[in-house]
Parts: sequence; structure tokens; C-alpha cells
Amino acid sequence: MLNKQSVEDLTVAGKRVLVRCDFNVPMKDGEITDDARIRASLPTISYLLDKGGRVILMSHLGRPKGEADPRYSLAPVAKRLSELLDRDVVFVPSDTVVDDGVRQVAEGLKDSDLMLLENTRFRPEETKNEETFSRDLASLGDCFVNDAFGTAHRAHCSNVGVSSLLPSALGFLVKKEVDIMGSVMEHPERPFVAILGGAKVSDKIGVIENLLTRVDTLLIGGGMSFTFFRAMGYDIGTSLLEEDKVELAGTLLEKARETGVRLLLPVDLRIAGEFKNDTEIRVVAADAIPEGWMGLDIGPETLKQYQEVIRDARTVIWNGPMGVFEMENFSAGTFGVAQALASSEALSIIGGGDSAAAAEQSGLAEQISHISTGGGASLEFFEGKELPGIAAISDR
Ligand code: AMP
Repeated sequence: MLNKQSVEDLTVAGKRVLVRCDFNVPMKDGEITDDARIRASLPTISYLLDKGGRVILMSHLGRPKGEADPRYSLAPVAKRLSELLDRDVVFVPSDTVVDDGVRQVAEGLKDSDLMLLENTRFRPEETKNEETFSRDLASLGDCFVNDAFGTAHRAHCSNVGVSSLLPSALGFLVKKEVDIMGSVMEHPERPFVAILGGAKVSDKIGVIENLLTRVDTLLIGGGMSFTFFRAMGYDIGTSLLEEDKVELAGTLLEKARETGVRLLLPVDLRIAGEFKNDTEIRVVAADAIPEGWMGLDIGPETLKQYQEVIRDARTVIWNGPMGVFEMENFSAGTFGVAQALASSEALSIIGGGDSAAAAEQSGLAEQISHISTGGGASLEFFEGKELPGIAAISDR
């Protein structure tokens, strides 16, 4: 089990507690279009305020390229947070995130006051984890809480840098993510099934390699299937292909055979002549793609097979869509897998990103045991890597 301090291990009354949140919310025309990430951070914030902490929140938003850019200001987040908590949120906009004015406000905070800093990526040092900005941030607080899982796989000033300068702990959100995913990786209830999809094999090589030593069955779908099919000698028409990964795909198939892991690829496919929704569509066997056609979704027979595997599983993890689910005619595989996960008795985990969006779009999110708030971070977790944002936290 993880031997890191959690927020409950800190004494916070009267202390200035610096908290890294993930407020990287989707925005349109200056309005927040989905506040799920803000809501996910409320348990830690409310706990600290209840305990009399003087809470100073920080986050990044978008990619402002290391300089102040009003389009990426956290001002709308301060407003939304204030509505959700029904209390004042002190927001001091500063192009440099920390300046004398910000320091003064931070020093003047009373117990249970709440403050939000400007977007940490307004500073060029942030993503390089340079000490100047880590020191600026750390100077504001007495201790640090990391509650941003979405950036835990990155070493930045606002997570790793400050951890090395202040006593630190994990917030409730990060702790929940790490506990649930950690226990699944260490001692899963079996059968343990992983479903991997998405565009590229290259993004998921490490994950596949690690999972082949842990799962009972690996279901593969999406664009990455075709690099495997090529390795098996199938004609794949104009389907997505990573030519330079064909050999590796062959090695992974071999490894699955050696380790006794059942690795399933689509047996049939929904194919089209063009990459668009409204076009002629056919369903063909996976080894029968005609020249000039491309596979854009798993077929109905594959979906049925995958749904059966999911139904019989005790633990399922899923990352990556089964097809081009953004187009309705090629979304059945992805939504069908989401449905199977939702109705399964298994412990079900979705690793953020597109698969999480698919579960949410189909109103099934509530029926999934855990939807991770970090796509990239959860992938690295499944890869068996140590996440720097977590490793940097003080040990118990
Ligand atoms: P990733 O970011 O690697 O998880 O990939 C997600 C993207 O993969 C989505 O935008 C899908 O539209 C795309 N995708 C899934 N299946 C296919 C496919 N068969 N052909 C092309 N793109 C695909």
C-alpha cells in the first residue's frame, strides 16, 4: 500500500495550506462548459476549510505558453468555485502568479479563508520545474497538498517543485485514484480484463507490455488493431497503420502467447471507403478488408464477443475508444463497450480521456466504479511507472 502522507495526516488549523488542484476545465467563450473537475476537488477543499486551514489553491488551465494570457485566466474558476461552495474565493490576478500583492493577501488570510492563484502556466518555469517559481509558490504556504491527479505524471513546479520545499500530503482525490488503481494492479479479482483502444499502438506499448504480465484477457480495438493485423499478414486497406510498429506488434502477440494471456483482436469490422460519417458502410471479417476501404469501428460480432468477456470479468480497466466514436455511424463499438462495463458486476475503471467521455455522453458514468480524472496519468499508472507528482510527496 502507498506509504505517503494523506491530507488527514497534516495539522492544518491556522496554517496556510497550498493545494494543487486540477481546474483544467473545458471552456467556451469564457464560460466553463463542464465543471466536473472543480466538483471533484471539493472534498479536499471543504475538509481543509472545516479544519481551519487558510487555503491557497493553484492550478493550470490550458496551454498559455509560459506567459500571461487572459484567455486562460482562472477568474471564471474562482467564480464557479465560489458558487459551488457558497463562500468568498479571494482571487488576485497576477501576470506572474506570485507577486508582492499576492504575498500580502496570502499573509493576511484568516482561518478558513479561501484564495485562488492565477494560472500557474503563466510562468515559463512551471513546466520545467525550475526552482525560482517553486520557491515563489512555496513562500506562500506552510504545507502542501497535491490533489491534481491529471498532472501527477508530470514534474512541474506546482506539484513536484513545491513538494521538495514544504511538508506535503496527498489530497482525497489523488489518494482515491491511487488506492483504487494501485489495488487493481497489485491484487485484482480475477478474471482481470483490460480493454485498450484509441488511435495508436505507439502510445500504448508500455501499457500493453505491463498488462501482459497481469491480466487474464486483453481486448484490443480502435485504430491500433490494424498494426496488429498487418503483423498477422492481413490486408488492411487504407486503415490507420503505424508501419514502424508492425514488428513490435508481432512481438507483443508472441509475448501474449508465451504468457498465456488471451489477447483478442476484432473478428469483424465496420468499414468505409472514406473517413466520414455519411458514406457507404459495410461489415466485413477482419481479414477481408477490400482494397481502398478502411476499418473505422469494431463490428457487431466483435462487440458481442467483447461484451461476453466483460460480463464474465471481476475486474475491468478500459482506455481508448473502439472506433471513430465521434462519428455516429462508427460509435456503436465504443458505446457498446461502455454499456457492457456499466452493466457488469465487475470493478470497472475507465482511464479518463475519450472512454470517460463516451461513458458520460451515454449517461452511464454513475454505473462505473471509477472514472479516472487523469487520462495520461492513469495510462502511466497502468504502465507500472512511478508518477513523479506522487513520488515527491512526504512519506508517512
Ligand atoms: P487516443 O487518443 O489514442 O486514445 O485515440 C483516440 C482517437 O482514436 C479518437 O479520436 C478516435 O476517433 C480514434 N480512432 C479510434 N479508432 C479509429 C480507427 N479505426 N481509425 C481511425 N481513428 C480511430
